[in-house]
Amino acid sequence: MCSVRAEHKKRQIIDKANRRAKKLRPKCFFSSCSELAINSHSQSVGRSLKNISVDDKVIGLSIDPFRPPEDVDDWFKEIGIRQASLFKGFCWKHDSEFFRSVDDFEMADMDKVTLAKLAFRTFAMAVRIKQQESCRMSTVIKESEGIFYTDDLYYHNVGQRVFLKKDFPYYLSKFEKMFNSDNYDDVESAVFLLNRNIGISCSTVIDPTLISPKNLYDHDIVDLQPAMFFTVLPDFAETTVIFTYFINDKQAALNFIGEHDKLEDIVFNHCEDVLFNPHFFHSLTDSQKRKIVKALAPWIVWGKVQFPDLFKVNLTSPNYY
Ligand SMILES: [Zn+2]
Repeated sequence: MCSVRAEHKKRQIIDKANRRAKKLRPKCFFSSCSELAINSHSQSVGRSLKNISVDDKVIGLSIDPFRPPEDVDDWFKEIGIRQASLFKGFCWKHDSEFFRSVDDFEMADMDKVTLAKLAFRTFAMAVRIKQQESCRMSTVIKESEGIFYTDDLYYHNVGQRVFLKKDFPYYLSKFEKMFNSDNYDDVESAVFLLNRNIGISCSTVIDPTLISPKNLYDHDIVDLQPAMFFTVLPDFAETTVIFTYFINDKQAALNFIGEHDKLEDIVFNHCEDVLFNPHFFHSLTDSQKRKIVKALAPWIVWGKVQFPDLFKVNLTSPNYY
């Protein structure tokens, strides 16, 4: 196929994949609820996003693996805080009632229930991202018949599909059992309080056994992955960093935390949806931004990027809940 026609065909396939992914209309994340999901914020607008915004705007990544722009600034875009971190997670009733305490709590009132709900919302967001990505990538892979997707993309998609088939129902049932029984013995959190607002907000699910690239080959892609729910919550003059894990994965989670004294290495190597305070973002050099893009890029086989000390904080002396 000549290059102009090939490029045209590629664009058509990508547009079709994007349209399909956008059309997904998931139901509420609670398995017992049949209402349609509305747009929920994975990161609280009033609590987190407001605290890093300038004129109610933050900076987020805008990554399209099929159309990589040349200029590093074009990988990022300004987003209004009402539009940031949106995902179709829960019905209106669950979103407003079940998660109210998660968006309103004072640090002094932090408890296991709030932390478990926060972890659950992070889990729901990660699942929805994977469902959308998997829909896009599967369409591209199917329609392009090997023309332009890479092996990395292919295996990334296989990994996502395995997660959605096995890990998703496993962890959903663990969370729901916990909420239904009102018994939180199966979950624990390590919480670090940093004495400044570091200018970013994020939440994600991390496989805590993934400390170095060689760990990618330690377990089979079809095995259940250990999971840890990670949140950076910026406050007016401080930041709370939260790792929540089920007791089964406690040792792996504590190893992971012990291996990372630098928060940069966790945030950028493991999160998909990092939102930046605009002043902090504009203080980064082009080379730092390129590192961030490289670390966050989900279609490249995971290789850990080392960061300079951007946040000027250390993870020490957590409180356990
Ligand atoms: Zn619901």
